Amino acid sequence: MTDDKLARVIDFHGHFCPGVLIGYRAALIGLRELGVERAADEELVTIAETEACGLDAVQVLTGCTMGKGNLILRDWGKQVFTFGRRSDDKMVRVSLKQGAMRRDGDEELPDEERRARARDRMETAPDDELFDVRWVDAPMPERARIFCSVVCSACGESVMEARAHLRDGEPVCPECYGEVYTRLF
Ligand SMILES: [Zn+2]
Ligand SMILES: [Zn+2]
Repeated sequence: MTDDKLARVIDFHGHFCPGVLIGYRAALIGLRELGVERAADEELVTIAETEACGLDAVQVLTGCTMGKGNLILRDWGKQVFTFGRRSDDKMVRVSLKQGAMRRDGDEELPDEERRARARDRMETAPDDELFDVRWVDAPMPERARIFCSVVCSACGESVMEARAHLRDGEPVCPECYGEVYTRLF
């Protein structure tokens, strides 16, 4: 293994697993199909339908990241990534094929071995055995917007206007409004 890109992905993600390889392979396909390199700015967009391991590889390889606003997370729990380029609004959808990571007889193997085989398969199987790839005929998501900030009338901290609530006509941040720190799932 360890080509340079994969090494960077593993370093960012923290461990080497079958899941991170899903994103690694999907991102390589997406970039190749679009004929583009890693995004320095917002020239690429990724719509990810999972927040699992593979998403880290996608961020490293495509340069579409949460912080840049060109990674859109639609956590529908599917191993699907759609990559788009702004130059001509083309988008390509890369989805993991049902059963792609399994081989006959895997069920009988101990966990550790099954995992190793899945990883091996994700690393070496040809693209078309692992993924379905198709062009998407849909409008590109808008570019990331910059919102004004307002000052929360309860805690005095700044909060993006679009995230603020109104209480008795005064802006209130989500935290003071009573939304708690929690995961959705
Ligand atoms: Zn992982
Ligand atoms: Zn507040």
